[in-house]
Amino acid sequence: MTQAYSVAPIGFMRSCFKEKFAIPRQPQLAPAARGVLELIAPFDQGDAVQGLEQVSHVWLLFLFHQALEATPRLKVRPPRLGGNQSMGVFATRATHRPNGIGQSVVKLDKVEPGRLWLSGIDLLEGTPVLDIKPYVPYADIIADARNSMAAAAPARVPVQWEDAALIQAQEHALRLDEPLTELIEQCLAQDPRPAYQTPTPERVYGAQFWDLDVRWHYPQSGLIRVLEVVPAAS
Ligand code: SAM
Repeated sequence: MTQAYSVAPIGFMRSCFKEKFAIPRQPQLAPAARGVLELIAPFDQGDAVQGLEQVSHVWLLFLFHQALEATPRLKVRPPRLGGNQSMGVFATRATHRPNGIGQSVVKLDKVEPGRLWLSGIDLLEGTPVLDIKPYVPYADIIADARNSMAAAAPARVPVQWEDAALIQAQEHALRLDEPLTELIEQCLAQDPRPAYQTPTPERVYGAQFWDLDVRWHYPQSGLIRVLEVVPAAS
């Protein structure tokens, strides 16, 4: 039998994203997506992060803890390809994968003993983080890299606001001291709706950001309008 190795988290994410739906498919697509990585003992001491203030971005290696599966899949259907084309799991960044390990390059905004303040994240609240590594531009930037399946960032859908929803968002942004309107616009512009759904204007979608429920609809194809930003139910 193949030898198994065990890993243990070095910390957990506190994230603006409280559910999987509406999280961008990659980091950096929503620069206003912020969170704090809370390190646990013994890594919560200053020694473990000494020198990290010299670094602008870090790689996070983490567990897709809400997508772990006992039986590994060989093929997956990436949402990026509309969900109806299957690909080898190793050709994709799918969350369902052997060992359930994710990796994201995120911006490091502030370092404190036991805490990293991050932005541009695509990690869910409570995500167990396995390791942190500094981004090394000379090694990590590959000028002639190619990926024909994901050649460019997904096209952005225009996002409009109901007047009342924009006021709600601005008020909550002040309360939270977070770039909330930007976060909502950047995430909804990715069009979180599953590709196979053709939404009628009556159909209302919703997702939680921070402690808020955000609801939106598609008044016409290719256009999103934010309807309300209200305190989350629970
Ligand atoms: N950048 C990472 C990578 O390439 O490994 C993640 C890519 S994955 C396609 C991005 C999606 O992972 C997000 O849209 C979100 O829904 C999902 N996700 C984020 N954190 C998760 C977690 N802890 N458990 C399960 N799914 C998660």
